[in-house]
Amino acid sequence: PTLRNPEEWCRSFSHFIAQCLIKDFETRPSVTHLLEHPFIKQAHGKEMALGQQLSTLICEQQDLGCKLKTKHERINTRKTLIIETSPDDDLVNLEFLDEETIIKHLSKRYDELQIYTYVGDILIALNPFQTLSIYSPQFSKLYHGVKRADNPPHIFATADAAYQGMVTFCKDQCIIISGESGAGKTESAHLIVQHLTFLGKANNRTLREKILQVNPLVEAFGNACTAINDNSSRFGKYLEMKFTPTGAVMGAKISEYLLEKSRVIKQATGEKNFHIFYYIYAGLYHQEKLKKYRLPDKKPPRYIENQHGKVMQDIVSSKLYKEQFDAIQDCFRIIGFTDEEVNSVYRILCAILNTGNIEFTAITSQHQTDKSEVPNVEALENAAALLCIGPEELTEALTSHCVVTRGETIIRTNTVDKATDVRDAMSKALYGRLFSWIVNRINALLHVAESGMNVGILDIFGFENFKKNSFEQLCINIANEQIQFYFNQHIFALEQMEYQSEGVDASLVEYEDNRPILDMFLQKPMGLLSLLDEESRFPQATDQTLVDKFEDNLRYKYFWRPKRFELCFGIQHYAGKVLYNVNGFLEKNRDTLPADIVVVLRTSENKLLQQLFSSPLTKTGRCQRLVIKVLIIPVTFFAPPPSPCFVSSLRWQYSLMDLLSKMVVGQPHFVRCIKPNDDRQALRFFKERVMVQLRYTGILETVNIRRQGYSHRILFEEFVNRYYYLAFRAHQMPDSSKENAVAILERAKLENWVLGKTKVFLKYYHVEQLNLLLRELI
Ligand code: ADP
Ligand code: MG
Repeated sequence: PTLRNPEEWCRSFSHFIAQCLIKDFETRPSVTHLLEHPFIKQAHGKEMALGQQLSTLICEQQDLGCKLKTKHERINTRKTLIIETSPDDDLVNLEFLDEETIIKHLSKRYDELQIYTYVGDILIALNPFQTLSIYSPQFSKLYHGVKRADNPPHIFATADAAYQGMVTFCKDQCIIISGESGAGKTESAHLIVQHLTFLGKANNRTLREKILQVNPLVEAFGNACTAINDNSSRFGKYLEMKFTPTGAVMGAKISEYLLEKSRVIKQATGEKNFHIFYYIYAGLYHQEKLKKYRLPDKKPPRYIENQHGKVMQDIVSSKLYKEQFDAIQDCFRIIGFTDEEVNSVYRILCAILNTGNIEFTAITSQHQTDKSEVPNVEALENAAALLCIGPEELTEALTSHCVVTRGETIIRTNTVDKATDVRDAMSKALYGRLFSWIVNRINALLHVAESGMNVGILDIFGFENFKKNSFEQLCINIANEQIQFYFNQHIFALEQMEYQSEGVDASLVEYEDNRPILDMFLQKPMGLLSLLDEESRFPQATDQTLVDKFEDNLRYKYFWRPKRFELCFGIQHYAGKVLYNVNGFLEKNRDTLPADIVVVLRTSENKLLQQLFSSPLTKTGRCQRLVIKVLIIPVTFFAPPPSPCFVSSLRWQYSLMDLLSKMVVGQPHFVRCIKPNDDRQALRFFKERVMVQLRYTGILETVNIRRQGYSHRILFEEFVNRYYYLAFRAHQMPDSSKENAVAILERAKLENWVLGKTKVFLKYYHVEQLNLLLRELI
């Protein structure tokens, strides 16, 4: 380029830079590095006058670079699909395998935007924290019914394996997605549903559309913005896609586990309430319907107010919230909810928001000091009107309660604290039951016949360890212990079973069994949850007596009581140490909804509300089914709990049992999601963070076991077919007998191999040696 015409120079120079940049992306994809590029530095130094112009152009080129930066986008711009497989697609195939090597490979792959990697049967998914164009219908086609090794690892391949397994063996399948919060579980679940809908050729467009609307709808009600993830699932979800025997999608069924109801009334600093509350407030504001739904228009209700002042503006000016509200309305319509039902849902949501605004003050009179009243009745009247109940009855139910003593009913007044608790309990119960109703209604609208086969997808909260951990974290972490137990059972027990059934010494298979920790939580009557239930029954119990009780009774190395923190106890989970604060444990476990509130709500004229409170909270008929499951998998914690039991803990255990019993019947597939960094930044890979996650998802152990044990098991027939050249003449074609297999092994001078009943058990290096010999011969 000539320097006489600066503009022209600039254009060609920047073009040249662009070329370099694009080339550079092959190896160094980070855009932030670009300004450090020697060409650019040099150009700035030499041509100061052109600096300004140059940087504008550089910015443009950076944009271009950004656009081209993903490998797959490059593929798309070339309009041809070049999908490259690589030897480290499955880490089990690597020659040397230790922690460092795994990390090195994952890191390299992540840099190349290969976010998926296999470790044997498990799929590791690194969160890319950016949109990748590898989920188009083109990719769905690419991964349809082909051998796993033909393409690089992909979430579609896992979905495909489950689908093919179901169709070929007529066996239910389940895909278990696990990982920390924000690691990408929910996204993975969506992608699996997307691919399964493609594979199941949902001819019926309406059905396909309905199924695809399920996740957004349920997530609006069950997800929230947390410190870790802007769209964090606050409930566990098990989605079953139902198929006909020929593999066509028939419908879907969704089960929810343990919605974090406490979020309705209170959120930690920097966190938010469930999405739907913001959507509805912004949506109704823009539709000018706040009045109709009796919501305040100057200041948002307390439940969705956060610490800083500009909330009102934030909520109503957010285009996103408004759009989401429109989208939710579409979801309801497409799935098939009636207008009346949707209206009732909105009324209940707005009633909850109003309930949160009800305040109490103490009345002090000569005789009574523990009485409360509602000084400003507006919120209360609004809530009552929306719930179609009488305001006086509601006031009474909030500020007093009935006690039956010796056959006589006495009315006692509530203190301000008690009335506040009753109010919040009512909000939580309303929301919890509304959520369950929506889920059940979706199931009914998706017409699921019990026959047919299914692929289940489990997306459940990952292991949590915050600065302050409470009852919710304990519940979540116990769930994860159980899932880990199942994972171990599957991977390691299967491994052992294969050794045993082949008559090979199984003592080589060792792993860290988390069963003792599970016993500590779930054993009866002395497990942690039983102790918690027992203590919850004593009205005089306090957080202090609870933690003392734990300390006195839990004699396990996994439990400890730190000296410095009075109301805390620590647990050594399989995934690490967690310190729990017992503050509020008893109350949360009791999760009691006063009978007086239930009575009032049952008087409602709103049909939906009547339904929500007409049946008891616990689902019946489960014990029977679960006892049957005990026969299938002998795990102690499947035994039904003794009654009476507290609602929350009872439901909690039931939920998990139900969940595990579902998983036991299917062929499992595991997806382990990993968060490469805590800043939600693309292309940043922090080794230490990944290492911890690999360790506690059991991946390192899986790899070690495979490597230490006999990683290759080959049927005698297959073995002889493959390697007979090594011991026989080419035209000989010997019998595929055990003896001939031994002849080959001896001729090849291998050591340390083992013979099973039907297979040769080989170490990973044996296979390499055999292949080498074969190559030399040919
Ligand atoms: P989890 O359910 O494990 O808490 P999510 O699935 O909600 O985590 O993922 C958190 C965020 O990470 C998502 O909102 C999205 O921005 C990003 N993410 C996760 N997986 C992918 C993916 N495959 N492609 C692009 N972004 C992803
Ligand atoms: Mg999630």
